Amino acid sequence: MSDRVQRLAQLQDLELMIREVEDPASKMKEEALGFSVEGLAQLQNARSRLLKQIPKQDLRAYQRIRRKYDRAVVPVMNRICLGCFQALPTSVTRNVSEAGPLPICENCGRILYWL
Ligand SMILES: [Zn+2]
Repeated sequence: MSDRVQRLAQLQDLELMIREVEDPASKMKEEALGFSVEGLAQLQNARSRLLKQIPKQDLRAYQRIRRKYDRAVVPVMNRICLGCFQALPTSVTRNVSEAGPLPICENCGRILYWL
């Protein structure tokens, strides 16, 4: 996984965890009352530290996709996007340069990483 995509995947992980903690019906909260306040602050702290390492244009792309889907970053296996289960054209590759476009599924628009 490229560093750029990896950081977005990490951001997604943290945001999904934060949402789990904030959800009053979540298992995590039920299991650990008292965890929630301190744990939530730590997750938010990790998130804001990560945000500083992500290029602005990557963050904008990620946030746009997150408005549509819970998971903006999804794996690819055998050239199939595991977000929408469509085959990817050969033009989509795992090679991401520092400044180039992120690998995106043409069908669903999610950001891709290769398993
Ligand atoms: Zn897709």
